[in-house]
Amino acid sequence: MTKLLCLDDSYLTVCSAKVTAVDAAANRVQLDQTVFYPTGGGVPCDFGTLSANGTAWKVTDVHKKDGAVWHVLDSAFGPLGLKVGEAVSAKIDWDRRYKLIRMHTATHVFASMMHNRGFGITGNQIGTDQTRVDFNCETGAEKEALEAGVVAANEQLKQSVELKVYSLPRDEALKMPGMVKLANVLPPAVTELRIVEIPGIDTQADGGCHVKNVNEIGQIKLERVENKGAKNKRVYFSLATP
Ligand SMILES: [Zn+2]
Repeated sequence: MTKLLCLDDSYLTVCSAKVTAVDAAANRVQLDQTVFYPTGGGVPCDFGTLSANGTAWKVTDVHKKDGAVWHVLDSAFGPLGLKVGEAVSAKIDWDRRYKLIRMHTATHVFASMMHNRGFGITGNQIGTDQTRVDFNCETGAEKEALEAGVVAANEQLKQSVELKVYSLPRDEALKMPGMVKLANVLPPAVTELRIVEIPGIDTQADGGCHVKNVNEIGQIKLERVENKGAKNKRVYFSLATP
């Protein structure tokens, strides 16, 4: 198991860690803890560096397998040479992280405004420059509803609202209205849910990283809308910096 420090502090950029496994063939290492967010939940991983003994490796991919986080290192930087038990320093690319967490929290705010207008979210892919959200909706007046949803979201994003992150037992969490908007079914093994609450705006079970306050996000700009069948819309948006 790798401890994901970003879930407690998404503004932490550096940590020390110990190597817990090495896969030399795939140029990747597992760590006991990490500042990196591994790809998941529609959010891409962080990039950054791992360093030890005066050598630094670029981290080009981070993914989770059975609770352990693999950091894939750029092979152009030479053979690994890292050993199990060795101490390393992990550092993320903060510009990329900050774009991703602003986009992620923006997606929650926007999805909540669309949920109020009868749009269910069926998927999302967060990006640094553009984010894609898939909605299902009844036919008729979607364009107007989407535009109104963006206006409503942008009103919320002008406020100062601090996010709250806490955990709740599964039963209690699922009783909360509007909690699980994603059409995903939670595996029964999950007994404790991590809740990300944007007070007055949105409450979700969520395993990702977010900004501290919605006033850090800026404004949502609708880029384009694609029809995906009669009842599905694929929406792309970008963010204008605050
Ligand atoms: Zn999320």
